[in-house]
Amino acid sequence: MRMLTSSDEDIRIAAEAIKAGRLAAFPTETVYGLGGDAFNVSALARIFEAKRRPRFDPLIVHIADLASLDMAADVGSLPPSVRTKLCVLCRNLWPGPLTLVLPKRPSIPALATSGLPAVAARFPSHPIAQKLIRYSTGAVAAPSANPFGYLSPTKASHVQEQLGERVDFIIDGGCADIGVESTVLDLTEEPARILRPGGAPREAIEALIGHVEMGHPPAQDTPRPAPHSPGQLASHYAPKAPLFLHNDSDMAGLSFCPDEAYLFFDEETRGAWNMRNAPNAGGDERIFTLATGANTGTADKTLEAAANLFDILHTIDKLKPSAIHAQKSPDSGLGAAINDRLMRAAAKRN
Ligand code: AMP
Ligand code: MG
Repeated sequence: MRMLTSSDEDIRIAAEAIKAGRLAAFPTETVYGLGGDAFNVSALARIFEAKRRPRFDPLIVHIADLASLDMAADVGSLPPSVRTKLCVLCRNLWPGPLTLVLPKRPSIPALATSGLPAVAARFPSHPIAQKLIRYSTGAVAAPSANPFGYLSPTKASHVQEQLGERVDFIIDGGCADIGVESTVLDLTEEPARILRPGGAPREAIEALIGHVEMGHPPAQDTPRPAPHSPGQLASHYAPKAPLFLHNDSDMAGLSFCPDEAYLFFDEETRGAWNMRNAPNAGGDERIFTLATGANTGTADKTLEAAANLFDILHTIDKLKPSAIHAQKSPDSGLGAAINDRLMRAAAKRN
């Protein structure tokens, strides 16, 4: 593995590697991605192998301009009303943290979509991601650059620690701004359905195209060959230590235990908890807050919390606590994505 900078020259080295069927991890505005040529079956197989990702979990195809969507998706086969919604979404939320599930073009190998007839496509806003895609093949399949089921990477060092020699290059582009994965929106259903909450809040999507459904589609008569969207797997995004998710009052009521770690949403609940646990002072290195910014509204707090979430969980995991107690975030804005990740992290215990 070789660490690269964000210089044009280095991005071209990574792009050449992708063109040659190899893998390069790169920064995006959501989390770091593990990129390979979306048209090359052996590159796609390498991605699954490097992540130890089950083949039923499809990959997101990343593009660097709107015109390239045509290479991956058969937009013309959508009903006109859905095409209109697609246009509105692309105009307003692309480039950005929104992945759209659309009818697939045959040029995208079935391996990329785990055999599903739909492809997930995203146009990231990160300038390094855009250059890498443009300099390589125009369509880069890239799941998060972490071993399957584990915490997502928001820094180059997270990728290095977790994937090491399983990746050829890592482009270091600093910290991911948003810090949680993209929102996955399925436009092959009407109404559209959010398969995974993420960096584009439901409120922003609904303001553009009206009501969208959330979560699992209703049970089918015939079993599907794969989860409709594997972000729906009950256990995912999990640290090594068991994680317990608490509402505000339960969190404030917990008693301090020195071998456990505590993850507060904001300073208010932490303050209340501190007062209760003051006699047990010490152990501060095991107590964390996702949103520390004073006097900001809920929306700003969830933005800050999302950006810190995975980095703090990586730090906590290195402390090897016997348990992690995490406070739920408010559910609005990026809070829905934060709670989704924490719930799935908690599900690993079951
Ligand atoms: P990750 O690559 O780790 O960001 O996860 C990608 C997520 O995108 C998957 O877990 C799925 O939820 C979703 N996804 C990718 N491709 C498809 C598809 N063809 N249909 C539905 N969901 C998809
Ligand atoms: Mg992932």
